[in-house]
Amino acid sequence: MPVTVPLSRSRQARRYRAAATRAVAVTAVVGASMAALAAADPHADANTDTVAANVAATHTTEFTAFTPREAQMPQTVPPEVLDFLKNLGIEQARPKTVRPVSGPLTSGFGVRWGAMHAGIDFGEGFGTPIRAVTDGTVIEAGPASGFGLWVRVQQDDGTIGVYGHMQDILVQTGQQVRAGDEIATVGNRGYSTGPHLHYEVHTAPGSAIDPLPWLAGRGMDVGQAG
Ligand SMILES: [Zn+2]
Repeated sequence: MPVTVPLSRSRQARRYRAAATRAVAVTAVVGASMAALAAADPHADANTDTVAANVAATHTTEFTAFTPREAQMPQTVPPEVLDFLKNLGIEQARPKTVRPVSGPLTSGFGVRWGAMHAGIDFGEGFGTPIRAVTDGTVIEAGPASGFGLWVRVQQDDGTIGVYGHMQDILVQTGQQVRAGDEIATVGNRGYSTGPHLHYEVHTAPGSAIDPLPWLAGRGMDVGQAG
């Protein structure tokens, strides 16, 4: 259904001009009539208001017929254009990088206890929703050695985000996700000593990078592991 919007300024101005033109024309007619009446009847002044009203009433309809038809019609904007503009605003306003959980960073990237820790850990309560860090496509969601359950997402910049140890997975392989979408819940599966989220960033399968500078490059500071 088309949505009616107020007349544009230019259209309104045109309407005012048309009204002004009508007023001038009516005045001219009234003036001419007055002159004729005055010539015929020296006492016409007493009847001026009534005569002017009658003349105006007689001629208004005639002059209104000159108003351009489109000026009398409501201006409409196609709904798909309104939708596009609305969505454009939403798209520009929404964040493109989202902290996956609000809990604190508890472990950084690098060698830890003599073994490589290929991601970062966030301490968070069991069952807390985990949000997608970026837009992307789920490329794997299910059991994985060490991770218990994992979700791998092809992220918006081509990297792969890996989420581990979840209690429940809320997405499926092939699914499109947007930054901030709930994709899983925090758990304690796999090699884990308490509920937390493990998050990795890979530039290619098996090539993990430190997520902290990568996140910082996207404007997100998740803090330092204490
Ligand atoms: Zn970890």
